Amino acid sequence: MSKNILVLPGDGIGQEIVAEAVKVLACLRDDYGLDIDMDEALVGGTAYDATGTPLPQVTVDMAKEADAILLGAVGGTQWESLDISVRPERGLLGLRKELGLFANLRPALLYPQLADASTLNPEVVSGLDMMIVRELTGGIYFGEPRGVRELENGEKQGYNTLVYKESEVDRIVRVAMDIAMKRGKRVCSVDKANVLEATEMWREVAIRVGSEYPEVELSHMYVDNASMQLVRAPKQFDVMVTTNMFGDILSDCAAMLTGSIGMLPSASLNEKGQGMYEPIHGSAPDIAGQNVANPLATILSVAMMLRYSLDEPEMADRIEKAVEVTLDAGLRTADIMSDGMKQVGTEEMGDAIVGALRNQ
Ligand code: NAD
Repeated sequence: MSKNILVLPGDGIGQEIVAEAVKVLACLRDDYGLDIDMDEALVGGTAYDATGTPLPQVTVDMAKEADAILLGAVGGTQWESLDISVRPERGLLGLRKELGLFANLRPALLYPQLADASTLNPEVVSGLDMMIVRELTGGIYFGEPRGVRELENGEKQGYNTLVYKESEVDRIVRVAMDIAMKRGKRVCSVDKANVLEATEMWREVAIRVGSEYPEVELSHMYVDNASMQLVRAPKQFDVMVTTNMFGDILSDCAAMLTGSIGMLPSASLNEKGQGMYEPIHGSAPDIAGQNVANPLATILSVAMMLRYSLDEPEMADRIEKAVEVTLDAGLRTADIMSDGMKQVGTEEMGDAIVGALRNQ
């Protein structure tokens, strides 16, 4: 039975980069027999303009029915003055919540061809290929009680609560283990077990789940050391699994190791394996509509979709190989341009990837 992909271009460069990713999916369907159909729906500011809400019910319904979702980006200056309840970003948060997307997968991958784009020495980062698995629906960002209260002496006190149930830790560590089985078979669980009881329990659960995966080498690291190791020697990591807040910070740090925001894909999965796939960057209003945005993060998000939701790893390999061939040929969008390379626009880059796919 063919798999259904819901395409949500969103706002700004989302429209342009998703168009290129759709070309790639269409090529895999027409030339290599990938059994998919694609539907499109509105989300974000464009959805607000058309319907008065950034997340129309029809989009939620289609998302729930889909096998996987491809999202461009949401947001833009023209919607910044709207009430927070209808801002474009609400569309994205609403989708995460409606679909129960608890596992956020963020690879940090640096193609050797782009090693110069990093602010770190090329030998430290060239060939970096790690995956950060961040818990996305629990922890301190959602824990109750939370708020700002007034103490007896009139001083204000802000407070948040770090909470995790064993079942929440169990399922995210399991995701990390399963991913490690398809990669280098090493998982580093990041916590602050020396100070925070909640993460002491996190570590206990990680060890318990880890014992079910004898082939995977499980290690533990305190978050302060992990942040240091990420910049000192990032290639020591294969899969890193951590809490919502630690993952938020560490995954941005890891992304910047690669120096090229236009290259990094991401996935958010729920318990059914359904996933939403999107580049890590935003809608880039400063370059929207100019045909200069880099579509590769979105195209690589399609590869993740094929690997993690559609069980088509060979198709994912095809896309990743096409990206390598195209970079080897010297084609670069403006954000990753360097001396001696050929600068191309969004569409030209998308066409080059499709060309490389056809030549396989
Ligand atoms: P951004 O990621 O959109 O842009 C940051 C910088 O990176 C800009 O200079 C931009 O031109 C550049 N850039 C981003 N993607 C690029 C690409 N594919 N190719 C080339 N250059 C690229 O972040 P921002 O400027 O902080 O936010 C802009 C809007 O995007 C805001 O409304 C924000 O809320 C929204 N946003 C959305 C998401 C999302 O949809 N997941 C994520 C982050 C930000």
